[in-house]
Amino acid sequence: MKKAIYPGSFDPVTFGHLDVIERAAAMFDELTVSVLNNVAKSSLFSVEERVNILKEATKDLENVKVDSFSGLLIDYAASRDIHVAIRGLRAITDFEYELQTAQTNSMLSKGSLDTVFLTTSLEYAYLSSSSVKEIAYFGGDISQCVPDFVKELVYEKYKQIKGK
Ligand code: ADP
Repeated sequence: MKKAIYPGSFDPVTFGHLDVIERAAAMFDELTVSVLNNVAKSSLFSVEERVNILKEATKDLENVKVDSFSGLLIDYAASRDIHVAIRGLRAITDFEYELQTAQTNSMLSKGSLDTVFLTTSLEYAYLSSSSVKEIAYFGGDISQCVPDFVKELVYEKYKQIKGK
């Protein structure tokens, strides 16, 4: 069985991520989308919330699983017998960091974890979770960036934060 993992922060998942997920799911028998529990990065949604959002957003894709992990990607992938990581490339600015990460993972895993890059669909090239959060924080419209139910959750979250 051809398996792959798509790791990321997904804080929150955007149409750009979902496009990568759909395309990767069509290439592999099983795709695990996994939320990285990165203690060094502050996030809007908890890991559990992000997992639940991803589950809802991918519920129609039968071969997509959602999970979370902490620690090194290579250890997590090895524990699940997965040898391909998926990453998305939007622009040249993503490339340097992604190339370095892919090569580091290849070196650390002794070639056991390879990275497959999917270039973004042009209509989502501008999209990032950070810009979605910034727009929503200032009350802007994020309908073109995330599914409707995610939009409501993001607005709700900022309402709670600002109400404190
Ligand atoms: P990170 O894991 O770097 O914190 P994200 O969770 O935002 O970043 O993204 C996970 C992966 O999805 C990364 O490989 C990122 O380049 C990719 N990605 C993010 N937004 C898009 C987009 N609009 N189109 C294609 N790929 C994207």
